[in-house]
Amino acid sequence: MLATPVFGKDGRMTREIPEDEMKVRIDLAACYRLVDFYGMADLIGTHISARVPGKDDEFLLNPYGVYFEEMTASSLLRVNMDGEVLDESNYSINAAGFTIHSAILGGRPDINCALHTHTTAGMAVSAMEEGLLPLTQTSMQFYKRLSYHAYEGVASRDGAEAECARLQEDLGTKNKAMVLRNHGLLTCGANIAEAFLGIKRLEHACEVQMHAMAMRGEGQTLKLIDDEVCEEMYQTYENRGTQRSDLGWAGHLRRLDRMDSTYRN
Ligand SMILES: [Zn+2]
Repeated sequence: MLATPVFGKDGRMTREIPEDEMKVRIDLAACYRLVDFYGMADLIGTHISARVPGKDDEFLLNPYGVYFEEMTASSLLRVNMDGEVLDESNYSINAAGFTIHSAILGGRPDINCALHTHTTAGMAVSAMEEGLLPLTQTSMQFYKRLSYHAYEGVASRDGAEAECARLQEDLGTKNKAMVLRNHGLLTCGANIAEAFLGIKRLEHACEVQMHAMAMRGEGQTLKLIDDEVCEEMYQTYENRGTQRSDLGWAGHLRRLDRMDSTYRN
């Protein structure tokens, strides 16, 4: 069992957590552990957020300094859109994380979870002018619906608040995935399961692209999928909505429970 940090200063509970919020906390803590399990964590960096049920202007974020593999439901911090941490804790939040997640959740009422990574494959594709290419079936769900945000420097620098508007503009009103150029990946969803499946698939598509480009020898070209097929496949994915992600989520929790169920604490 891992030693896990708990809610409240010096480990003391400071308020009753409503049942619906606790459910979101458990799913979010699970999501952090799954991102770690699948090799998508970057030490204590990057972040995943989830809106507090019934509170448009409050979301949950990781306590900065806690590793993804040791995240627990009750240690996640409630933050408002002004950046105020509403839960008592021995930890604070990552300022760059607040900028990115307040922009996404503040600009898109249909989105309740945003997930950001710094993986090797994600950063490799983010450093390519062409971005993600239609090379595989897996990449089809992002076909022409993948946003790109130019790198402006760390999102915690002075004046970074102004970047929020550009993050919102670049994500747009419909897309649920974005490449942060020269930086990493971001996915979002109506729920945590959707954002997680999005990053798993986007990461996989980036990994394949990285390998395919590395395998390409002199005179060899990459085989791209025809536009028409890409669009048809995108629609096939889109029509299933969150059905696919919801279907797999319970299994993800079962896997975590078999390994270490302390994420539920
Ligand atoms: Zn980042």
